[in-house]
Amino acid sequence: MPCRSSDELNTLVTTAKKCTKSGKVADYIPALGKANQDDLSIAIHYPDGRCISAGCIEKRFTLQSISKVICLALVLIDRGSNYVFEHVGMEPTGDPFNSIAKLETMSPSKPLNPMINAGALVVTHLIKGNSVEERFQRLLSFIHKLTNDSTINYCEEVARSEFETAHLNRALCYFLKQHNIIEEDVEHLMELYTKQCAIQMNVLDLARIGLVFALDGVDPLCGKQIMPPDVARICKTFMVTCGMYNASGEFAIKIGIPSKSGVSGGIMGAVPGKFGIGIFGPSLDEKGNSIAGIKLLELLSKNYKLSMF
Ligand code: GLN
Repeated sequence: MPCRSSDELNTLVTTAKKCTKSGKVADYIPALGKANQDDLSIAIHYPDGRCISAGCIEKRFTLQSISKVICLALVLIDRGSNYVFEHVGMEPTGDPFNSIAKLETMSPSKPLNPMINAGALVVTHLIKGNSVEERFQRLLSFIHKLTNDSTINYCEEVARSEFETAHLNRALCYFLKQHNIIEEDVEHLMELYTKQCAIQMNVLDLARIGLVFALDGVDPLCGKQIMPPDVARICKTFMVTCGMYNASGEFAIKIGIPSKSGVSGGIMGAVPGKFGIGIFGPSLDEKGNSIAGIKLLELLSKNYKLSMF
């Protein structure tokens, strides 16, 4: 058991919190700009049902890019990995998450991985269902299973705010459509994607999802296999290679925990075979990762030797 008490976690949060001032809250999605820069919270969920936490743990935040790895799991279950990887690649890019640069030069013509926006839009496009509403509800039901909480929903204000300002993501969609990588109406895909990114939860829920990934798809609390081990393995691998955008290499060296971040300041961690981590700290570094969240993971990883490498 790496960190035994919430008191131990509180001490780490107090240390990590000092760096929130050197980051900045994301405001390119205007509604995210309202977040409190100084917030920092963490929850750790263990397989025996124990959960320790520190900070403003009841606060809910939107998943943003963390939703990409959950959506990938659903689509891998729905369609199988061969089909999915005909449409999106497996390689890190080294570019910012919203970059359009490699789309034009890559061969074969498909986004390099499902964690950059271009690839995530393709994965969202692959969610099965007959309407945007039905596809969104399928994703939400999957999240209800992962968290064991059927009250989780999306934040309308954040979804609308992103939908109205997502010029770059629309550009990525039109590029993908021009090259026959996606077929559907761009506005429909944008509606689904912005709702997906605006799904809201707190760090306790996020840690529980991290735990399912950590335990190869099993929720130890209800004993159910929520996703096949292979799907959990593929998702964790992407979390290592591309989960922290173009900071993934440095993160793997310094911290070594499969993790996925989002521009709302969330980070989901899955320590293989051990436990799940949920973090919320909206002050971001220049690559769009929670600045205090990374500091906190660095302290945890060093103090309790959590690197998988
Ligand atoms: N909704 C955000 C976007 O597409 C998600 C990006 C992120 O969290 N890095 O721009």
